[in-house]
Amino acid sequence: MPIDKALLEIIVCPNCKGELIYEEERDRLLCKNCLLAYPIREDIPILLIDEAERIPADMQNSDS
Ligand SMILES: [Zn+2]
Repeated sequence: MPIDKALLEIIVCPNCKGELIYEEERDRLLCKNCLLAYPIREDIPILLIDEAERIPADMQNSDS
């Protein structure tokens, strides 16, 4: 089941309190401010900086 849209509107990045973007392909939540990706386990977003993965800066522009 994809993550609940209502939940997405509530949760924010624990680091910068900014909005999180759901990345469907990888089932994780991205913070573009911090370049961190938070995993989702069993439909529960793990909003822990320690658990987050660093996103390479070159992934920022993925329009193409
Ligand atoms: Zn952030």
